[in-house]
Amino acid sequence: MARWVYSFGGGTADGAADMKKLLGGKGANLGEMAKLGLPVPPGFTITTEVCTHYYARGKTYPDQLQSEVAVALAAVENLVGRGFGDPDRPLLVSVRSGAPVSMPGMMDTVLNLGLNSTTVEGLAKGSGDRRFAFDSYRRFIQMFGDVVLEVDHYLFEEALEDMKREREARFDTDLSAADLEELVEQFKTIVQEQTGKPFPETPQDQLWAAIGAVFSSWMTPRAVTYRRLHDISAEMGTAVTVQAMVFGNMGQDCATGVAFTRNPSTGENAYYGEFLVNAQGEDVVAGIRTPQPLTRKMGEEGGNDLPPMEEVLPQSYAELVTLFQKLEGHYRDMQDIEFTIEQGKLYVLQTRTGKRTAQAALKIAVEMANDGLLSREEAVLRVDPASLDQLLHPTLDPKAEKTILTKGLPASPGAVSGKVVFSADMAERRAAASEQVILVRIETSPDDIHGMHAAQGILTSRGGMTSHAAVVARGMGKACVCGAGDLLIDYESRCFYVRGTRVAEGDVITVDGGTGTVMLGRIPTVEPQLSGEFAMLMGWADSMRSLKVRTNAETPLDARTARRFGAEGIGLCRTEHMFFQDDRILAMREMILAEDGPGRTRALSKILPMQRRDFVELFTIMQGLPVTIRLLDPPLHEFLPHEPHEITEVAAAAGVEPKFVKRRLAELTEANPMLGLRGCRLGVLFPEIYEMQARAIFEAAVAVYEKSGETIIPEVMIPLVGMARELELIKNKVEAMAAQVMQESGRELTYLIGTMIELPRAALQASAIASHAAFFSFGTNDLTQMTLGLSRDDSGKFMERYIQDGIFPADPFQTLDQEGVGELIRIAKERGRATRPELKLGICGEHGGDPASVGFCHRIGLDYVSCSPYRVPIARLAAAQAAVRERMN
Ligand code: PEP
Ligand code: MG
Repeated sequence: MARWVYSFGGGTADGAADMKKLLGGKGANLGEMAKLGLPVPPGFTITTEVCTHYYARGKTYPDQLQSEVAVALAAVENLVGRGFGDPDRPLLVSVRSGAPVSMPGMMDTVLNLGLNSTTVEGLAKGSGDRRFAFDSYRRFIQMFGDVVLEVDHYLFEEALEDMKREREARFDTDLSAADLEELVEQFKTIVQEQTGKPFPETPQDQLWAAIGAVFSSWMTPRAVTYRRLHDISAEMGTAVTVQAMVFGNMGQDCATGVAFTRNPSTGENAYYGEFLVNAQGEDVVAGIRTPQPLTRKMGEEGGNDLPPMEEVLPQSYAELVTLFQKLEGHYRDMQDIEFTIEQGKLYVLQTRTGKRTAQAALKIAVEMANDGLLSREEAVLRVDPASLDQLLHPTLDPKAEKTILTKGLPASPGAVSGKVVFSADMAERRAAASEQVILVRIETSPDDIHGMHAAQGILTSRGGMTSHAAVVARGMGKACVCGAGDLLIDYESRCFYVRGTRVAEGDVITVDGGTGTVMLGRIPTVEPQLSGEFAMLMGWADSMRSLKVRTNAETPLDARTARRFGAEGIGLCRTEHMFFQDDRILAMREMILAEDGPGRTRALSKILPMQRRDFVELFTIMQGLPVTIRLLDPPLHEFLPHEPHEITEVAAAAGVEPKFVKRRLAELTEANPMLGLRGCRLGVLFPEIYEMQARAIFEAAVAVYEKSGETIIPEVMIPLVGMARELELIKNKVEAMAAQVMQESGRELTYLIGTMIELPRAALQASAIASHAAFFSFGTNDLTQMTLGLSRDDSGKFMERYIQDGIFPADPFQTLDQEGVGELIRIAKERGRATRPELKLGICGEHGGDPASVGFCHRIGLDYVSCSPYRVPIARLAAAQAAVRERMN
């Protein structure tokens, strides 16, 4: 016989975690928690099959439902020692919808169900707080009126605002018990007027109306649209969960709080959280009362000297600690828990995987693996590669002078500077104009998310470590200082005052989310010291990955940074960046302005020693690791001056008339330079340039060998090849230069010549091209541009819309378009290796540092990825994760 109702509570449950289909996500989780022996408030779940039945049989319920609900409700009454509708000890319940997949657009929650004109008196007596009882009642009518009876919620809000105005009350909390009692009557009148019926008095009627409302909400247009967009079947149906309400505000032996099993900011294995005695859950996050710390240690570290829970409620604290251990043992991850203590009895309302900073994620994963709770592979999978970015960025220079304005709570680490702004919109506007801003708010709400995204950092004057600002900033990896109570923020005048200093919009401040310090002006930063856990996790990752990780670097600083971050060579040295430097640009311009080959060679001979020095330095830093040097790529006019005074200057230096420079400029200007005289086409037309570069490379290799005995095997890379013949021509010249340098120096040289694959034709013709190339490096910036016919410099203007409309899942210049561009890479790999099985394959576009794209590169069997120095650890971890996932499948 079918069973329609599943109970949970009292240490047992009928359902379990794997019954999401039948009990919905919420119902299954509550069952799982109860089975674990967690003290969840008892309740029951009406299955999704009842929903199916309801729609299949003309909105009726199965015969036994009524009796099954009655039995389950009686069990709840027994467990909490209260009665549904009991005038002295009333049981109140919450009613929630819960589909197998989380689905906005449906009825969410009704709280405090079971209140009526008699039970409200029982609640008032029980709690000794009449105001609270009537406040709960008016909230219930409002919620029930809105979601069950479909009365416009605006009408209730208006009545509340009117009363506040009449009473000259600023906050809801300024209204008295008598005011709220009167408001309850007004709310009932609104319901009568809007629905033509009185507000239901009987708890049983309330319950069945709420259950009906959940099932009806399954078919609201909003829910139907959501399902259509997300490909969710309507067959699935929703479950209804009814659960006892517990109260943390029934006296001094009551409390409510939020706790983490480990510190979500640092990852330290220490209990962490906040609570309030005699309070409701929302009081903890509302910031009206300052929450107390869980432990003395936490209080001392956060500068909160209020008495901690371990001292105020030692018994409940001990129970909580046992619970933490049980939870971590079961879920094998840090948990974020909401709890309530009702008259000395501890209840867990919710547990979920806790959000954490990158630093905490790393520490927790490594420690859990070292403690045997996780395998090393699991630990490696636990850290989001992209989040490592947060750890690698600079921190405040300890030697720098600082004007400290104030200190708040260290909510989310990172040291950042920016101009003060006071609204999310302004943050977004200024950030769009490339300004760095710090969003300063009294507290934040979901309406501020876009501003928090746009800002470098967030500063609030109110709210604790679990406030909206703190939690959201940690999730985003943004620096955040919250609860800086000294700040007096004046939104209207757009300034804040702190200890006698006035800081106006646009003034620069620095916030350090690691310490909670707020400083005036921009404070210099230093490179981060990477923690032991970082090295350990990266070590594990390195032992698991097969994909190599190189870096894109042309300056010694970048090359050194990348080495420190574990780069295994240089995958792309863009030599043009070396020509832009002040001392070289003039010689470069002279070369471009030269009338003929010999003139160009003369000018280039000035650059040769500088290029050679560059390469000697890079080879030395890389200590024998592979270094791929790409010959000049961009169109020549990029090196020419454009401003009149620059033109005069260059003309004088080159000994020609300004009009000659202008003419040359006009000659070189192209309507479509991205498709013009660039890449290897330059090498075909002006062979002297590539010859000079080849000479500099080979002479540098000889010089390093002579100095240190290190054998360098340079990899010379030819850009933007489309035809095999282009590569063949240039390769012959480079080989001739190698032979010449070998002859001049009397040294043998080993080197590789390869090409970038940046054009669709090159990918398709990979077989022919591979006969001249020892390696391919996929230049996915150009390959994306050329494949999609989408300008890499202009697409930003409309990309957001394309992503919003679901045309691209993500910006294809950041995350590889695996179906299109990826397919070309696959083809090039297969055809290239068919010609030359030992062909080395890598990628050096921006995608080399994007975790999803790195995963793709691993799966299709490239040898390496190359990315900017700061993304090297990201790529190492992403490569390891791809390898582990492959092994697991
Ligand atoms: C590329 O096109 O992917 C590439 C790495 O070269 P560049 O970005 O210099 O054009
Ligand atoms: Mg390119």
